[in-house]
Amino acid sequence: MNKPENISKLAIEIKSSGAKKVLLQLPEGLKFDAADILSELKKHDIDAIVSGGATYGACDIKDKEAKQAGCDLLVHVGHNKFYKDFDTEVPVVYFPWSVDMDFDNADFSVIAEKRIGLVTSIQHAGSLGSLKKMLEDSGKEAVIGGQILGCSCAAADKIDERVDAFLFAGSGDFNSLALKTEKPIYILNTEKEIVEKLDKTQFEKRRYASIFNAQNAKTFAVLLSTKKGQKNLMGNANDIVEYLKRRDKKAFIIVMDDVTDNDLKGLKVDAFVNTACPRLMDDTWSKPFINANDIEKVFEE
Ligand code: SF4
Repeated sequence: MNKPENISKLAIEIKSSGAKKVLLQLPEGLKFDAADILSELKKHDIDAIVSGGATYGACDIKDKEAKQAGCDLLVHVGHNKFYKDFDTEVPVVYFPWSVDMDFDNADFSVIAEKRIGLVTSIQHAGSLGSLKKMLEDSGKEAVIGGQILGCSCAAADKIDERVDAFLFAGSGDFNSLALKTEKPIYILNTEKEIVEKLDKTQFEKRRYASIFNAQNAKTFAVLLSTKKGQKNLMGNANDIVEYLKRRDKKAFIIVMDDVTDNDLKGLKVDAFVNTACPRLMDDTWSKPFINANDIEKVFEE
């Protein structure tokens, strides 16, 4: 779907909600078009303003901001509803913003396996049918899994037994790194139209280096996000503090909205334990940074 089609569909959804004033929460890639989107919505008599904060996913809902700005609806653009339920202060409409996938120039010959599981990010979910057809025309068997997130790969898990490899269509390796499968993973980079095999080596090296370095830590900051979907996402922060104390470590909770190394630099601690988005691990950290679901590995002999 192209931009005007998405905006028209968005306008229809907002109109049908009966909202008087709307806060638009746009993903980074669409903020550039904010002025165009607002002026198109104005033509439909829609009074809308734009949230300026970063948006990380459907886990990150600016409903409080909408209420404070006098809006009676939040339109969260670019994602489907998060898979975990939470209450919001104003009604929320989720608008995925479909983008047609380009793969005509991509070379799929790097994929040696026969049965391919197809997964993608939400923007391209509508194009998986044509990707499947293209692969089948070239002699492969393709099974559609659907949308995956960096914190949930249920769509891939359910087809794992039926495929020999996975193909993730999207940009970057943020989501595909979350796939738990032992099978080969390929990425169709939809911006560059190239197909590459995912190499998890660097990611796993960094992960285990952090776990190893945290073994000498005496004091831990346990990070608790205030983002509704990220709060205690990977483990309960209180339980982790107790777990660490039972192992003669000092531990305390740090509450934050955006978790950034810069904001944590002033803390006198030896390591961080992250209970929020698992993909924060991919950022650069000045101290060992452990995802909560890896905490037991720190104490393995
Ligand atoms: S991977 Fe992280 S940013 Fe994406 S939906 Fe999950 S918690 Fe949110």
